[in-house]
Amino acid sequence: MRRSRTRHIQPLLRETTLSRDDLVAPLFVDETLSAPRPIESMPGQFRYPVNDIAAVTAGLWKSGIRAVLIFGIPKSKDPGGSQACHPEGVVQQAVRRIKAETPAMVVITDVCACEYTDHGHCGIIGETRNGMDLLNDPSLELMNRIAVSHAKSGADIVAPSCMLDGVVGSLRAALDGEGLSEVLIMAYSTKFASALYGPFREAADSGFTFGDRSTYQVHPGNSREAILESQLDRDEGADMLMVKPAGFYLDILAEIATMGLPVAAYQVSGEYSMIKCAAKNGWLKEKETVLESLTCIKRAGADLIITYFAADVAGWLDEKQKKQ
Ligand SMILES: [Zn+2]
Repeated sequence: MRRSRTRHIQPLLRETTLSRDDLVAPLFVDETLSAPRPIESMPGQFRYPVNDIAAVTAGLWKSGIRAVLIFGIPKSKDPGGSQACHPEGVVQQAVRRIKAETPAMVVITDVCACEYTDHGHCGIIGETRNGMDLLNDPSLELMNRIAVSHAKSGADIVAPSCMLDGVVGSLRAALDGEGLSEVLIMAYSTKFASALYGPFREAADSGFTFGDRSTYQVHPGNSREAILESQLDRDEGADMLMVKPAGFYLDILAEIATMGLPVAAYQVSGEYSMIKCAAKNGWLKEKETVLESLTCIKRAGADLIITYFAADVAGWLDEKQKKQ
C-alpha cells in the first residue's frame, strides 16, 4: 500500500475533496439587535441585526460560499407564532436584503415556528390524548403560510425543520398553488432528537417552556425509523433530503445517500462547539479537526454540508490552493 501513498502519488488518488460549493453557512438574524451579538456557547458565531445581514452575506459570497441558511429571531413571540409568516417578519426582511445585495447567493430559509412561539414548540400546541403536545395538522397550515411568505420574499429553497407528518407534501401544494413551483424544498427528512442541539437554543432563542421534542424527532438508536422518515419525504416531493446531526450519524447518511436525491448533512451547533472548545484549550488542532470532520461527512455521502465552519473553511481552502 505504501507505493500509492508517496507524496506525489497520493493526491492523484484522493477520493473525497472538500470544496466551497459543498458548504452552506447558517446565519441568525435578530430583529431586536442593532449590533452583532456573540453567541457565547458557539465561539466565533453571532446573531446579526437585520441591517447587517446583506453585508455579512456579501462577505461570505466573496470568500466563495454560495449558499446560506437563514434563521430568524423575532421581536415578539405569541402562541400562534404569527411573526413567522408576517410579510415584514425578520426572515422576510433579511431575504429581501440579501437578494438585493447578492442576487446569485442561494438563500435557504428555515421553516418552523419554534423561534416565534412563546411556548417554544415548533407549531400549534393543544390537548392530545397524551396531554399537551404539538398538533400536527393545524401546524401544517402555519408552515404553509411561513414557506409561501419566505418564497415570496425571494427564498430559493425552503427548509421545513418542524418534523410534522406530511409537511413536505403540504408545502409543495401550497407553493405550487401560489405560482411558486420553482422554489425547492430541502426536507429536514431525518432529524434525530439529539443532545447536540443545546448551543443552538441560545443562538436561536428557541428553548421551550414544557416538554421536549422527542415526540416528533427520531430516537438516536432507531435506524429503520430514520430511513423511513427520509423515504416518506422523498415520496412527498422533497427536492433534497437531510440528516441532522451529521457526525454521529454517518451510517444513516450513507444509506440515505442511496435514495436517489441529493442529501444535505447538518453539522449542528454541538458538533461545532465541541471542536471549538477543545481547540480553544489547545487539546485539538482546529483546522485539521474541522477539515477531517467535513471530509468524512462528504465521504459518507453528503452533497451539501451545513456548517458553522463554512467561512473558516473557505479561507483554509484558499491557503491550501496557494501552497499547491
Ligand atoms: Zn422548530
